[in-house]
Amino acid sequence: MQQEQTFVMVKPDGVRRGLVGAVIVRFEQKGFKLAAIELRTIDRALAERHYGDLRTKPFFSELVDYLTSGPVCAMIWQGEHAVENARSLIGKTNPAEASPGTIRGDFAMDIAGNIVHGSDSAASAAREIELFFGRHAASHPLDLFAGDEVSHG
Ligand code: UDP
Ligand code: MG
Repeated sequence: MQQEQTFVMVKPDGVRRGLVGAVIVRFEQKGFKLAAIELRTIDRALAERHYGDLRTKPFFSELVDYLTSGPVCAMIWQGEHAVENARSLIGKTNPAEASPGTIRGDFAMDIAGNIVHGSDSAASAAREIELFFGRHAASHPLDLFAGDEVSHG
């Protein structure tokens, strides 16, 4: 079983609406393990780096306004194929197209307020984990609980 870590963030609209708990419940119910969590308000420089690949998009400055409009809840979740599994729990980018049963499908209506972020690849996860949790944060599976089996392949 391929264990990995991914970066997930409840964005400011999700925190404001009191959905941090609902997001955490879904990840825990799926079987992910929480490896790190921090509530913080990020500055524009970090938001711009986080979404650096979208710098040329017309909505970029609104996206940065959105991400810096209040505290976010940054998390590292660990599990089997964590990146892919987290993306399927989260659902499509546009909540109007996201299936019921996904986080965005159940809790959001608007693409500019889709409440949660999840890394789109293992490379993005490593980059985002370092950006939010620092260079010393693990982007590889940890033995989080004594007795749990974690393969370090
Ligand atoms: N976004 C937006 N308008 C768009 C596309 C994206 O406001 O037309 C925002 C939205 O909050 C999205 C984020 O930019 O979650 C990052 O876009 P990406 O394509 O990476 O989607 P995601 O990986 O979050 O599903
Ligand atoms: Mg993305």
